[in-house]
Amino acid sequence: MNKIVFGPITSRRFGQSLGIDLSPDAKQCNFDCIYCELKGAKPVDTIQNPPSVQKVVDAVKEALLKYKDIDVITLTANGEPTLYPHLQELIQELNSIKKDSKLLILSNGATSSSKQTREILKEIDIVKLSLDCATQRCFNKIDRPLKGLHVEDIVQGIREFRKIYSKELVIEILVVAGINDKEEEFEALRTILKEIQPDRIDISTVDRPPAYDVKSVSIPRLKELAGILSSLPISLAYKRDYSEEKRDFTKEEILNMIDKRPQSFDDVHISFSTKSIQILEQLVEENFLHVKSVAGVNFYKLKDRA
Ligand code: SF4
Repeated sequence: MNKIVFGPITSRRFGQSLGIDLSPDAKQCNFDCIYCELKGAKPVDTIQNPPSVQKVVDAVKEALLKYKDIDVITLTANGEPTLYPHLQELIQELNSIKKDSKLLILSNGATSSSKQTREILKEIDIVKLSLDCATQRCFNKIDRPLKGLHVEDIVQGIREFRKIYSKELVIEILVVAGINDKEEEFEALRTILKEIQPDRIDISTVDRPPAYDVKSVSIPRLKELAGILSSLPISLAYKRDYSEEKRDFTKEEILNMIDKRPQSFDDVHISFSTKSIQILEQLVEENFLHVKSVAGVNFYKLKDRA
């Protein structure tokens, strides 16, 4: 496999993912996030020396012949994929060869303030945008953006995008200890997210060693912060070895909990006792609840929320 296409890798949140790196030679990003796993680099506004559309498409075609059952073809980069200068043409080509796979982009969201980018992104099946902070001070500290990028413009861009995009929109928040792990930040994010109504919110913390010296927050703290957000489906990234006391819930407690917020299969696996899982399954059988997949993650939801 060449440097442009990698994988497939198993993504817990999206399934079998075939990755496309649109900046295979160096990190080229309009952010230099404090938690980035790539070496720090000065933010830029375009990808220099990008691979040609033809080269990317040929590499993807070759991989699709070799690997079956790819859930998502993922546009990513050693940096920010929306800075790829031929994105529109590439998406058209990929949409024509993807067959049953979905096209996914992992973007930091900064270019959603551009109408042109929004028009391009709307042709993608799943758009995942980062939004770590709602205030400029926090944004500057955590994402260390290219000069002139304002979080308000980005938020407005995401609002505008939601108006024209009815496929699956996922917002990702990465939480860093001492920066965006404050109630006020999450309360500000809640106001915005309630308005935007993403299909899913992914919340995680620092996992692999990042470029700079930053600390993760505990899973219980992530859960508390998630509790501040709206009632939208939230997918928490639990650490592999994380476990907590399994609890017994009554039928009413389960319905109440899921009414407040849909519970992912991971949430249930982490905190429900065997008895509670049986009650939950019974509620599905009795049609009080149903299982809904949102961009590859399964949630229990109240039946009338379908
Ligand atoms: S947006 Fe992604 S690639 Fe760019 S600096 Fe942040 S973490 Fe790294």
